[in-house]
Amino acid sequence: MQDFDVVIIGSGPGGYVSAIRAAQLGFKTAIIEKYSVMGGTCLNVGCIPSKALLDSSEHYYNAVHSFEAHGINIGKPKVDLAKMIERKAGVVSNLTAGISYLMKKNKITTFNGLGSFESSKTVKVTKEDGSSEVISGKNIIVATGSKPTILPFIPVDKKRIITSTEALKLQEIPKHLIVIGAGVIGAELGSVYARLGSKVSFVEFADSMIPTMDKTMGKELQKAVAKLGADFYLSHKVSSAENNGKEVVVKATNSKGEEIEIKGDYCLVCIGRRPYTDGLNLASAGLATDERGRLEVDEHTLQTKVPGIYAIGDVVRGAMLAHKAEEEGVFVAEVIAGQKPHINYNLIPGVVYTWPEVAAVGKTEQELKNAGVAYKEGSFPFKALGRAVASMDTDGLVKVLADANTDEILGVHIIGARAADMIAEAVVAMEYRASAEDVARMSHAHPTYTEAMKEACLAATAKRAIHS
Ligand SMILES: Cc1cc2nc3c(=O)[nH]c(=O)nc-3n(C[C@H](O)[C@H](O)[C@H](O)COP(=O)(O)OP(=O)(O)OC[C@H]3O[C@@H](n4cnc5c(N)ncnc54)[C@H](O)[C@@H]3O)c2cc1C
Repeated sequence: MQDFDVVIIGSGPGGYVSAIRAAQLGFKTAIIEKYSVMGGTCLNVGCIPSKALLDSSEHYYNAVHSFEAHGINIGKPKVDLAKMIERKAGVVSNLTAGISYLMKKNKITTFNGLGSFESSKTVKVTKEDGSSEVISGKNIIVATGSKPTILPFIPVDKKRIITSTEALKLQEIPKHLIVIGAGVIGAELGSVYARLGSKVSFVEFADSMIPTMDKTMGKELQKAVAKLGADFYLSHKVSSAENNGKEVVVKATNSKGEEIEIKGDYCLVCIGRRPYTDGLNLASAGLATDERGRLEVDEHTLQTKVPGIYAIGDVVRGAMLAHKAEEEGVFVAEVIAGQKPHINYNLIPGVVYTWPEVAAVGKTEQELKNAGVAYKEGSFPFKALGRAVASMDTDGLVKVLADANTDEILGVHIIGARAADMIAEAVVAMEYRASAEDVARMSHAHPTYTEAMKEACLAATAKRAIHS
């Protein structure tokens, strides 16, 4: 039996980053992945392929809708969906091959097969051909991620009633795509097909898009996505979805109890993701999941109740985000090495890669209200920003929430061009507990989108934005 200091089950952003950090710290490290490619959800069916399609569809949309205004005439652009999907697949294989390279470079032993506990110190790896071997680890890290949530009354057939995984490789552009769930993944993939010409209908239980984010963001995003021709059934609870062979029929009930029926050719189900522990044989290690299917971990170490077994990423509590999984991957390797690492969970940014993008960090206005925190708010609209006017990307705003007494920035919410990159400034500022005035007094290059952050801080600190 091969013995390791650290055995990691799952090669997503949590697992592979943890493996690299463990190897850097001098541990003899192994990683087990049940699929033949590394990278997990993020690289194969998540962050990367969705962004590849968002970028391609955005180019197409701009070619149709804004090139002419920029003085570029290219005739009528046409979508080649097969080529678009092929490019996306190329991006994915390029990056997953990069992970395999990093494993070799860091002398990490890779096992291809399903990992399942034999005991709290040993894991059996069952390969695709049915053969198996058992390896042992002084420390074992579970990084098995998540899968799409499926409800019994929405029978996903993966042909017409699909999850995000199938939506990333459709062979035709839907005529009418019904998206159940207008959260982050639904908003992104719905945008892809709306830009490519599909009629898109969002059916959402909550009363806004991206309901976990600040309410202003959901409202502004809805306005932007509506410009793509999408329609919205907010505060609607889906009761059934059926593929009758000719079309998909979705039934939902609104808050007054009235039933509606929407017919389309595809239905994308994006109602969330569930932690994934199938096949792990947790009981053999003395482990069980909680009522939501998650592995419980100690806040200070990410260790489960079994000494030497840790869990990270989507399979534990907290935001289901690749960068959160990565931070936890590094954290756990350092804990095993006896270090005292730290993660500031309040400052893990959340991003929606729609157009305009949405990005946020810290508290929402609702959270501050609920917690009874006295706060002040400053906003700055992109339409008053020189850089945004120059590029014709004037939708959106920056909203800064600061403590009413100390002026410390408590939350930053951005909707607009390049929000995903702009949010990094807010993360740095908040990590160093900057006040809105601190940021407002820093020079921001002109003309840039980041000036909107400076102006929103000016507005928050003393209602003295310069350009609005
Ligand atoms: C469409 C979509 C878009 C997304 N976009 C973003 C985004 O833009 N930004 C962002 O931050 N997040 C995004 N996410 C979320 C992100 O993908 C996840 O948060 C992230 O991948 C979680 O990482 P992880 O390492 O915990 O698990 P995963 O990436 O899910 O990896 C787990 C790995 O473990 C393997 N595994 C499971 N069980 C076993 C076993 N028993 N034996 C061996 N291997 C096993 C799986 O095959 C998988 O490879 C997106 C998700 C989706 C679906």
